[in-house]
Amino acid sequence: MALKSHKIALRPSDAQKTWFAQQCGYARFAFNAALSDFKAGLDEDDWRSFIDLNNRFNTSKKAFDWTKGMDQRAALYGIKNLSEGIIRWKNKISRFPRFKKRGCKQSYSTDEQAVKVEGKRIKLPKIGWVKMFQELRFEGELIRVTISRTAHRWFVSITIDTGLPNVPRDTRGLPAVGVDVGINSLATLDNGKQYENPRPLQRYERKLAREQRKLSRKVFRSNNWYKQKRVVEKLYYRIACIRNDAHHQATTAIVKSASVIGIEKLKVTNLLKNKRLAKALSDSALGGFLSKLKTKTDTLGIPVIQAPQFFASSKTCSRCGYVKDELLLSERTYHCEWCNTKIGRDQNAAINLKNFAVGYTEK
Ligand SMILES: [Zn+2]
Repeated sequence: MALKSHKIALRPSDAQKTWFAQQCGYARFAFNAALSDFKAGLDEDDWRSFIDLNNRFNTSKKAFDWTKGMDQRAALYGIKNLSEGIIRWKNKISRFPRFKKRGCKQSYSTDEQAVKVEGKRIKLPKIGWVKMFQELRFEGELIRVTISRTAHRWFVSITIDTGLPNVPRDTRGLPAVGVDVGINSLATLDNGKQYENPRPLQRYERKLAREQRKLSRKVFRSNNWYKQKRVVEKLYYRIACIRNDAHHQATTAIVKSASVIGIEKLKVTNLLKNKRLAKALSDSALGGFLSKLKTKTDTLGIPVIQAPQFFASSKTCSRCGYVKDELLLSERTYHCEWCNTKIGRDQNAAINLKNFAVGYTEK
């Protein structure tokens, strides 16, 4: 069944903002309490499951009077997040969960069964109606409702089961499309069309680096540090918005025009190891582009053929198949010594990826 998510900015009153912050704090409290409980269990050779952790938390929380008035689902989902993290760690997908500190990303999930959505407002357990900036885009059964804060704004993410099967789209008559994803331009297609990174992005990224440096010079957790941190968070948010928009526009256009998509297999560099800001930004950018592409192609049933990492999409001549020994990053034009073709580097790569997807190219 098709699950859809919609993230909508909220327009909460001051009292509601305070309530949200409290529930995020409660979710964090439950997460941390269950994490130390789980760790204690490990020491005693007692593997505590989600159910164990949740039951034990519900017993121990009685010692804290303030938890009574809270949204109990916030704690439940906090512990659920933790146990999902534990399973990822057990399967060696991510590292061992760490305690959530004050000031890390604030979010909590609530009882989706008790939530109602009507036009531009949403009814949340215990707090009542909260205004939204937009109407919910999809209809169906609510699966997950999460409130979160990004920079200065509160959002609700609503995941819905639309009840509709994922129907493959009729793509007869549409061509195969090769997509070269890059840092210089966001994406280049085999027909030469390019999707550029939006221009404000560069300006904001430079500004972000500057504000980030300023932050590093402030006294940690001083008033000025918090003030500067807010500046940095707002910039991050703005950059993410600009980038998201660009990614949505490009991926929607590409998906609409293709019956099959050929793309390079990108190494998802380990963001955790990556301390350099510019690098981290470009990495997360490509990841965001690819995940949006994947969601949209999945929904429409369009196959995406990923060329393997050894596939020389850039070094191969798309006309005659000649493979260069070396191609410098600075060479923006591909010039084939064999058949004398001259073509834009990215477009050349995109054509090779298209051919790979179609099955003409074997290596
Ligand atoms: Zn050639």
